Amino acid sequence: MPVSGLGPYDDGNIFARILRGEIPCRKVYEDNHALAFHDINPQAPTHVLVIPKTPYVSLADFAGTAPPEAVAGFFRAVAKVAQTLGLEDPGYRILANMGVHAHQEVPHFHVHIFGGRPLGPMLTTT
Ligand code: 5GP
Repeated sequence: MPVSGLGPYDDGNIFARILRGEIPCRKVYEDNHALAFHDINPQAPTHVLVIPKTPYVSLADFAGTAPPEAVAGFFRAVAKVAQTLGLEDPGYRILANMGVHAHQEVPHFHVHIFGGRPLGPMLTTT
């Protein structure tokens, strides 16, 4: 169920196009549940996006309506990507923007993984 003003799932969004192979990405990981690739505009030395392979607009949509095995498989993939990239020590941050206040740009649920430097405070003040 679409929430937070994002509307119904739009098959033309950029991540849907990446999933269909219409647009290239720098892939770092793929399994049955998830695809991970480098962000085109990295905000840290490592900035990777992890997306489910199925169409959900947001975390609320994904967590609320995806089958339990898809939710578990996706979050296991997020942790596996971070581990594979060598980020567990000294650590990393994951982030998921949802809706207008969070500035979610792409209406296909995704988790950002940031690492490779000290990441500072959790939020900026602006
Ligand atoms: P959001 O604000 O929706 O959480 O983040 C969307 C992210 O997608 C941004 O960090 C942006 O740089 C990234 N992005 C947008 N278009 C593309 C693209 O075509 N390829 C890749 N790899 N990342 C993209």
